[in-house]
Amino acid sequence: MSGVWTVAEISGGEIKAISFELLTAARQLADTLGTTVGSVVIGHEAASVAGSLFACGADEVAVAESPALANFAPEAWTKVIASFAAEHHPQVILLGHSALGKDLAGRLAVRLGTSVIADCTHFAVAGGKVVCTRPIFGGTMLSSAVGTTALTFATVRPKAFARPNEQPGREGKLLRIAVDESWARSRTETLEITREQTAAIGLADAEIVVSGGRGVGTPDKFELIERLAAQLGAAVGASRAVVDAGWRPHKEQVGQTGRTVSPKLYVACGISGAIQHLVGMRTSGTIVAINTDAEAPIMKVANVAVVGDLQEVIPAVIEELKKRAGAPQGV
Ligand SMILES: Cc1cc2nc3c(=O)[nH]c(=O)nc-3n(C[C@H](O)[C@H](O)[C@H](O)COP(=O)(O)OP(=O)(O)OC[C@H]3O[C@@H](n4cnc5c(N)ncnc54)[C@H](O)[C@@H]3O)c2cc1C
Repeated sequence: MSGVWTVAEISGGEIKAISFELLTAARQLADTLGTTVGSVVIGHEAASVAGSLFACGADEVAVAESPALANFAPEAWTKVIASFAAEHHPQVILLGHSALGKDLAGRLAVRLGTSVIADCTHFAVAGGKVVCTRPIFGGTMLSSAVGTTALTFATVRPKAFARPNEQPGREGKLLRIAVDESWARSRTETLEITREQTAAIGLADAEIVVSGGRGVGTPDKFELIERLAAQLGAAVGASRAVVDAGWRPHKEQVGQTGRTVSPKLYVACGISGAIQHLVGMRTSGTIVAINTDAEAPIMKVANVAVVGDLQEVIPAVIEELKKRAGAPQGV
């Protein structure tokens, strides 16, 4: 058994943020286990991203390159990683707890008859085994588990680990995974990938998030949340109550059944702070809550709790921000 490996995700030729976070987790584990960190990259011209992975801590990068692997296809990816694992015998393979990672981890565990532990936020080593910790019951309890097989797959919650500091020029070993072209034959075929055209800042990577809940009042009044977000250069988030009501799309939902975010600043407007919401944002750097109810649970986790009607507080905050930015007022 050797090495802690990660599966890197590429989108539009760019490495996704989760892939770097996996390297932080892998490095911590590998240093404790006294082993190395590796990253598997799959795609057309996958080797082009190897330098970034080396710079962020990978000692080895194993690439499976083929035009036939240009788009994510679960069956083909599973075969590539299974083949790699059979040859290199890694102790742990970390994947993002993303759509791609969740899809692959389950398939791989079944195919290889190994353990899989999902949605991990912390790793430790005890008796040579990797102890994986994950929040359960909406984050109110933590569960620790160890794999019982020689190889364990674990998916890692986005934002649970920071991106590593880049070391430009850091080098590593490039390995090639021999790709059998038949692997790309699949029972499904990707006909088209349509990327959403949006100028809005993505929730997952935003440094500031402004979220609105039922206290906003009506869907059209969400325009106030959007204006505050625009003024702060923030992404817009939402509670499940407003998503369920059809006021906002599900991609904006923060919480247990939405996204987990950990921005530097989280502004919760008209959100009560139910536990299912808190688990998705409580690791944020600074939490500001605007709520008419001083006793709302969100006020207890807020660093700054503003008791007031958001219809009055937010316009005043926007005006103040504009003044400070030296912008013309009253727009
Ligand atoms: C299995 C499960 C999963 C769930 N997953 C999620 C999830 O992922 N994310 C999530 O958010 N929820 C989730 N929920 C729902 C969660 O339990 C709450 O129902 C939801 O978060 C409440 O949304 P809210 O805070 O917007 O609404 P409410 O609880 O109705 O709170 C509205 C708040 O606005 C305040 N308010 C009212 N008017 C104003 C005003 N004018 N100015 C300022 N404040 C005002 C009120 O005082 C109140 O605190 C889940 C529930 C279950 C059972």
